[in-house]
Amino acid sequence: MKNYIKADEWNIIEEGFDPNLNKISESIFSIGNGHMGQRANFEEAYSGETLQGNYVAGVYYPDKTRVGWWKNGYPEYFAKVLNAANWIGIDISIGDEKLDLHHCKVTDFKRVLNMREGYLQRSFTAELSGGKKIAVNAKRFCSIVDEEAGAIQYAITPLNFDGELSISAYIDGDIANQDSNYDEKFWEQVSNEGQGADAYLTLITKKTAFVVCTGSRVAIFQDGKAVDTGYTPVSKTKYVATAFTINAKQGQETIIYKYAVNVTSQNYNADELTQVCKTVIDRIAAKGFEKMLAEQAGAWKVKWDESDILIDGDVAAQQGIRFNIFQLCQTYSGKDDRLNIGPKGFTGEKYGGSTYWDTEAYCVPFYLATAPQQVAKNLLIYRYRQLDKAIENAAKLGFNNGAALYPMVTMNGEECHNEWEITFEEIHRNGAIAYAIFNYVRYTGDKDYLAEYGLEVLVGIARFWSQRVNWSGARDKFVMLGITGPNEYENNINNNWYTNTLACWCMDYAAEMVKQVKSSNPEKYHQLVEKLDFNELEETSFWNHISENMYFPKDEKLDIFLQQDGFLDKEIIPVKDLDPKERPLNQKWSWDRILRSCYIKQADVLQGIYFFMDQYDTETIQRNYNFYESITVHESSLSPCVHAIIAAKIGLEEDAYKFYLRTSRLDLDDYNNDTEDGLHITSMAGTWMSVVEGFAGMHIKDDRLKFSPFLPAQWKGYSFNITFRGILINIKVDVEGIHLSNNSASDITIDVFEEPHTIKAGAKVFAAHKVRV
Ligand code: BGC
Repeated sequence: MKNYIKADEWNIIEEGFDPNLNKISESIFSIGNGHMGQRANFEEAYSGETLQGNYVAGVYYPDKTRVGWWKNGYPEYFAKVLNAANWIGIDISIGDEKLDLHHCKVTDFKRVLNMREGYLQRSFTAELSGGKKIAVNAKRFCSIVDEEAGAIQYAITPLNFDGELSISAYIDGDIANQDSNYDEKFWEQVSNEGQGADAYLTLITKKTAFVVCTGSRVAIFQDGKAVDTGYTPVSKTKYVATAFTINAKQGQETIIYKYAVNVTSQNYNADELTQVCKTVIDRIAAKGFEKMLAEQAGAWKVKWDESDILIDGDVAAQQGIRFNIFQLCQTYSGKDDRLNIGPKGFTGEKYGGSTYWDTEAYCVPFYLATAPQQVAKNLLIYRYRQLDKAIENAAKLGFNNGAALYPMVTMNGEECHNEWEITFEEIHRNGAIAYAIFNYVRYTGDKDYLAEYGLEVLVGIARFWSQRVNWSGARDKFVMLGITGPNEYENNINNNWYTNTLACWCMDYAAEMVKQVKSSNPEKYHQLVEKLDFNELEETSFWNHISENMYFPKDEKLDIFLQQDGFLDKEIIPVKDLDPKERPLNQKWSWDRILRSCYIKQADVLQGIYFFMDQYDTETIQRNYNFYESITVHESSLSPCVHAIIAAKIGLEEDAYKFYLRTSRLDLDDYNNDTEDGLHITSMAGTWMSVVEGFAGMHIKDDRLKFSPFLPAQWKGYSFNITFRGILINIKVDVEGIHLSNNSASDITIDVFEEPHTIKAGAKVFAAHKVRV
């Protein structure tokens, strides 16, 4: 755990340069815009510890899987979003010395991530070994307005000398992924040109043949006026630079603007990319840095109006929640249904930037409530487009009749995980994909989605579950064997309560949606029957039959759902009795010891209770929470948010707050000692859920929005915006109660503590607090 980020409501601030913290800060101060993103590396050279990271969404490489002993069913490759051309580079030389903070005396260092307006700023004073001193002030951003573009303003001032600055603004494409399985480089050069102030580098990925053109243009200003220094192009393989020299007097500021663009063959013809890149550069350079930045601030204001959470009386908590929202908005803009959300977004290489069940189970609720409907819809359509591959994937494993098994890790719909023993059997992800469809329809009321896209996916998933179970003569029930639940500290188990529950729910929900689509859109329904070769009566009655006759492990004495068969054979020792020196277990214990212990990485029984909370009475939730919470080590970042929501539901307000804090500042405070690898982007959506679904108790039932809030004792109040079915609502909770404002042109009825309140367009209502449990 670290504590070096200064508390501030709108900014993330680091003061003073500590090279030991640099990789952590590079993650924390990352910037992105849905199309591309990067770690907060320095523009000038840096020879100390760093992870240079630039990523372009959807551009990946199928790196050959690395395993000891190959078995049938292993994925051929582990896909990874590629570390791409570095476009921020600006080398500065003064005399014969290169500016490199690793070799300078650095003072007044400050790095600020301005979340309100969406830019990164860094300033410092550096004394070079020859005694020359300079001051630097750099600002940069990835534009959320011109999504293919980024811009840098780099201001440098000699403090104790007059002299020549030699500058080289470069694009470096000779980049390797740190996580490459065989130390291979994945990019090859297509072309490379420097012309005047412009530089263009076009690269192609091996195997997948994605072509990316990265271009830049520089403009130099002194004393508020453009200076034409004359430029020398420099090029070598996978590298191109614009070099120039300029004289600067002591105290005189030289500003280098660098406009940069990434365009890819996903959106344009590969042979037109350089031309497209030039066109975009012309457009942004004509706007200029200040106008681009003003537009950036304006676009961020719109995002904040839709999604902000305000916390009164706790600056650290306020900074934490805004940081989570900011990073989520930087990662996924929802404009392209071919893209998804990697667990680390654009902030690091871990998890390969691929899509996991995290999207459906954790991220969809955030985008549903805080962005236009199409944003969450595109996340669902992404899986719809990959249905054929999910059917192929199931067929490879021996399933038939259009059964679909979505991958646990994917880029293009194919399974591409790197770690068979754990991931292969995590078939629960199929359930999360069906659940996200349910969640989307429940929230938006968009039933047409089912006929158009959703039902096909649900049928494929239900067919899979119906073939994955088997009849147990011994138990006289259906059972599900050989799986891994979300709790990855158990492998190859039988009858995981969560997976059995979710599978049955999927089959029942699919059967119900079949009926619904049949009556609402008979024509489409009949087309689907043909397309899917669907025998409604036979298939849906079999699904219902399985779910009525499924075995669910339970312990009668403790009256709890059992995580899996035989779970209570383990020695149950609560986490509080573990020596703190033994934790985190995954770094201190052998895998063998973890597997036979009772400790849970993330509690899947509680995940199931969270999904289907309405089905369980408070006492049942309490008993299961008390048992599973006591043995959960939360070594998945996805874990604490679910505990926060359940604790809030059963009135354990202190617990709810404790788990919220753990998720909200996980990366800012480097809680798990792993922020340097990148941020936990998908769990950030869980932080949002902890406040909105946990503290405010938001849920939707029968097309109605409901709240049952409490105010954490540590806060004076909190408020947030959500959009529900086109109506923008502000919810504010303070010591008096809950204030709801309807900021739209239509009326809405909302339940607070189960009592309906109709709020006229533009009006407000108030409800007093009530005891919740
Ligand atoms: C978690 C998985 C998750 C993955 C990516 C793992 O540590 O156990 O549930 O999908 O990280 O975030």
